[in-house]
Amino acid sequence: MSTTKNILEMNQVSFKYDKEIVVKDITMTIKPGQFLGLVGPNGSGKSTLIKLMLGLLKPTRGEIRLFDKPIKHFRQWENIGFVSQKANSFNSGFPATVLEVVKMGLVSKTGMFRFFTKKDKEKAIEALKTVEMEKFLHHPIGELSGGQQQRVFIARALVSEPSFLILDEPTVGVDAKHVSDFYQLLRKLNKDKGITLLMVTHDIGTITEHASHVVCMNKTIHFHGHSDEYKEFSDEDLNQLYGHPVQQLSHNHAHEEGDRS
Ligand code: ADP
Repeated sequence: MSTTKNILEMNQVSFKYDKEIVVKDITMTIKPGQFLGLVGPNGSGKSTLIKLMLGLLKPTRGEIRLFDKPIKHFRQWENIGFVSQKANSFNSGFPATVLEVVKMGLVSKTGMFRFFTKKDKEKAIEALKTVEMEKFLHHPIGELSGGQQQRVFIARALVSEPSFLILDEPTVGVDAKHVSDFYQLLRKLNKDKGITLLMVTHDIGTITEHASHVVCMNKTIHFHGHSDEYKEFSDEDLNQLYGHPVQQLSHNHAHEEGDRS
């Protein structure tokens, strides 16, 4: 087992693209084994926060540590998997097979092309087994449903065996009747594989049932704690934060009310 104390630490992190501060004074810690839901209205800075965590943006102020190291000295990027919101956008004509897409997860970390080995193929198959997609190995990715593609993208992120996985709205594109299976998969990754998860979501009605912790932000953090405590966050508090009625415990997801980017 790893002896990592904290997967991520942010200490008074702020960021502005130009004049306006979009992430303000964020202090938070993610511990190994947690499953966090990151929620907040559109434009509240969630994607920016993730880019800061991934080292894609540099904070205007404050410090970030990954796996107990200052981010500027951190090199084990294969330890962090990322499934972006725009991942599941292959159309039906896209020629790559599922296996090819998953193997790309081994290349993109180094940025260098290399020939794939037999071991790479085995790792890709293993990752596909984890997401229960191994029988689609030779299928063109574009022929799969949104939810199936999303599983393949998770396999692509898993192939380098990360211990921290960040997912940006992974349930978008997953058919409503498969969403609960999808959460089941995330729980399996968290509980059985011991992967720490951070998931951006609009599903504020569902996330508390699955995640161990919730971070609710709008530029700054409004809540960070156990999911059970988040359930106590009143609808009135949420309405004020979101600027429109949101019922966290109903299953009327915010995006069904038109809150989608
Ligand atoms: P969220 O993911 O919660 O929807 P974002 O992090 O995407 O929020 O955006 C936060 C704010 O930063 C928004 O006001 C958005 O318009 C602005 N923003 C996002 N990306 C850029 C960018 N590349 N340049 C300038 N402003 C940006």
